[in-house]
Amino acid sequence: MRKFEVSCLKFDVSLKKCKLISSSRTSNIEYQTSNNNPLSSQPFMKPIEDIFPLLYQAKRIVIVPHQKPDADAMGASLALSSFLKQFGHSINIISPTNWAGWLNWMPGCKEVIDYDLFKEKAEKILDQAEWVFCLDFNALHRTKNLAAKLEQVTCPRILIDHHQQPDEKCFEWGVSDTSKSSTCEMIYDFVYASGHSDKFTKEMIDCIYAGVVADTGSFRFSSTTAAVHKLVADLKERGLEHMHVHNDLFDNFLENRMRFIGHVLINRMEVFYEYNTVLLVIPKSDLLRFQVKTGDTEGLVNYPQSIRGIKLVAIVIDRDEERKWSFRSKGDFDCNTFARKYFEGGGHYNASGGRSSLSLDETVKNFHIAMKENIHLLQ
Ligand code: 5GP
Ligand code: MN
Repeated sequence: MRKFEVSCLKFDVSLKKCKLISSSRTSNIEYQTSNNNPLSSQPFMKPIEDIFPLLYQAKRIVIVPHQKPDADAMGASLALSSFLKQFGHSINIISPTNWAGWLNWMPGCKEVIDYDLFKEKAEKILDQAEWVFCLDFNALHRTKNLAAKLEQVTCPRILIDHHQQPDEKCFEWGVSDTSKSSTCEMIYDFVYASGHSDKFTKEMIDCIYAGVVADTGSFRFSSTTAAVHKLVADLKERGLEHMHVHNDLFDNFLENRMRFIGHVLINRMEVFYEYNTVLLVIPKSDLLRFQVKTGDTEGLVNYPQSIRGIKLVAIVIDRDEERKWSFRSKGDFDCNTFARKYFEGGGHYNASGGRSSLSLDETVKNFHIAMKENIHLLQ
């Protein structure tokens, strides 16, 4: 790891051909990604700082967050866009899918192109792109329907992400650091490391703060380092109005979501004390009854974590195309490994997600089996 030091703040950026250091939450185990593609001559992405000298030539740039972007993915995309625009680049943000309506307060959000709705326009823009930034995901399949097109683009893809096990061969340049709280924190580091800390706009400040707050569970997860608090102090000195951001993030829902949460906690929650596990199972009928929209289910998985002794919380939602899982753990239960092993997913050590194409009943049965297989890790 190379460290940048800028006015008492330290920044880590992964190096070419070096091992990526996994999160401190994974006991600092080192791993090396391998290049599975025999046609690729580039087994490892090059370090992100290699692009700093190239920032001064105006380019057509596309920024892509993961599907159903959350506050971190959307915040990072908008902040990077606001930063890069100052160099004269032409910027488009293409989201693979729609996003929660309550993110629309984020400055610039309304200009984001939804690939599912504007496929032709988005593909034209991608055909002409000279750089594609991939933010808050590290494998192309995390962009759903957009993945095939992203794979085809001939220009370099650039990664900025904090999830485990990046698919490095897909990216020309990049930084992958699982010790980072959020991709928004990494955008903040990127701005400093590139030598342009004079270019923080009001938009960037609000978006970066929102992503950091969201991905740290309001500064409670172990990823909340001293550097995160220093970042916040710096943003405050730059004019951050944190109360407005908290209000926009957390006090910005409709009544139906509150009623839906009440219903789920009373009727759809099962506690397995022997396994220190809580399971929430949401059938499609609930989504219809409470008119649940994209983003309304976000955060639901966090509620049962406040039950004393609970180590793992799982939620499965019966969506049209698949059964979508989310996992949250406390302490030394590895949600990333669990999601990868049983539910075609991944993510972080204490927060991950997955999917299943089985019926709701079938996938819940599989969860019971997985929970039992992991009893030694859960007790
Ligand atoms: P959430 O439960 O909030 O949707 O996701 C928790 C974390 O796991 C996020 O960082 C998210 O990007 C990641 N994640 C969610 N679903 C998947 C998935 O299907 N595959 C992978 N690799 N990561 C996921
Ligand atoms: Mn994130």
